[in-house]
Amino acid sequence: MVNGPWQTALAQLDHVSEIMMLPDSVHQLLRNFDRILTVSVPILMDNGSLRVFNGFRVQHNASRGPYKGGVRYHPELTLEDLQALAMEMTWKCSLVGVPFGGAKGGIICNPKTLSKAELERLTRRYTYAIMPIIGIEKDIPAPDINTNEQIMAWMMDTYSINNGYCTPGIVTGKPLNIGGSLGRKDAAGLGITFVIENVIKNMKMELKGLTVAIQGYGNVGSTVGKFLYESGCRIIAVSSSKGSVYNPKGLDHHALIRYYKENGSFEHFPYAESITNETLLELPCDVLIPAAMGNQITKKNAGKIKAKILVEGANGPTTPEADHILAERKIPVIPDILANAGGVIVSYFEWVQDVQCFFWCEKEINTRLKNLLNQAYEEVLHVSHERGFTLRTAAMILAIKKVADAISVRGIYP
Ligand code: GLU
Repeated sequence: MVNGPWQTALAQLDHVSEIMMLPDSVHQLLRNFDRILTVSVPILMDNGSLRVFNGFRVQHNASRGPYKGGVRYHPELTLEDLQALAMEMTWKCSLVGVPFGGAKGGIICNPKTLSKAELERLTRRYTYAIMPIIGIEKDIPAPDINTNEQIMAWMMDTYSINNGYCTPGIVTGKPLNIGGSLGRKDAAGLGITFVIENVIKNMKMELKGLTVAIQGYGNVGSTVGKFLYESGCRIIAVSSSKGSVYNPKGLDHHALIRYYKENGSFEHFPYAESITNETLLELPCDVLIPAAMGNQITKKNAGKIKAKILVEGANGPTTPEADHILAERKIPVIPDILANAGGVIVSYFEWVQDVQCFFWCEKEINTRLKNLLNQAYEEVLHVSHERGFTLRTAAMILAIKKVADAISVRGIYP
């Protein structure tokens, strides 16, 4: 059997449940889902034909609060991917103390081949189809791969129209003028930067001159790139789905963004060598940040990673076999549920602001974000040192414990 993200998610849960000696009943409950909804999403294409897409919303566990998680549009999306991602949202929210459970949704589609009008119809019909199971206090969607503020605005509008009144808190990651939050757009990238600052300090290294390779210079990757570049790090390699560029002396973040806007890829970017995405992962550097898709660091390349630290910007980029190899090679892996939790943390702040109809300034948001991430990092580090676990195992133990405690104190109905 090919090991995909779902097998990875289960293997991680099983491993940690055993360490924790989690009661079998709770373990079984956490291996399963509260609800999985499959919907068909028929839309009229611009040429008048009808096309039916497949969409999903997976709700993993709501013991600690309403379901929360992104909506992904991708041609190769599978239900199993969404199961893994929904489960991961449960752990992520729990670890950083955000009172939500885990969910994830998506549509199997290639948004790059759709017109804006088709994308809008697709989004609205999908929202309508999942309406029975979402709600401000039920399940709050957000952006993920290939979804953005505009898509959140359409989701919010569709829900509001059908609900009978304006309901900004139904999604997070919305535009500012309809109840979005300051700082949400940069939150995942800024959060990764805060976590890297902590790790670097702990390893007695300095940000200035730190060499960084980033796989995936999209929303999350380029935001980390911007913050690290501005802090004096050397961004030596970046990639898009069409290939990577490398310059050991460092790349100019702003020039990269300008070039990508004009050319739609980094191919032939001046003053840099073109390399493959596989080579990027194996470059000598201080920090490697996989910030694209899942399952990128596998048993095939884990032995060849030359980075001193691996920071998971993407969800699920490292397989359990690769984790094992990296642990043996003493390369610390900062797990996704900690590293990229900034996005959902500020989503939580956005939701709180929407519910209160009272909005905070960006400084307050970023300070609160930093506090939550610093606290989670300290806790993870403490468990890791005290019990000799990898950072991932420590993070999972902390996260699963809070969910298991919530299940236990609430009990099973009826
Ligand atoms: N899609 C993001 C994640 O995977 C954000 C989810 C959210 O804000 O609800 O963490």
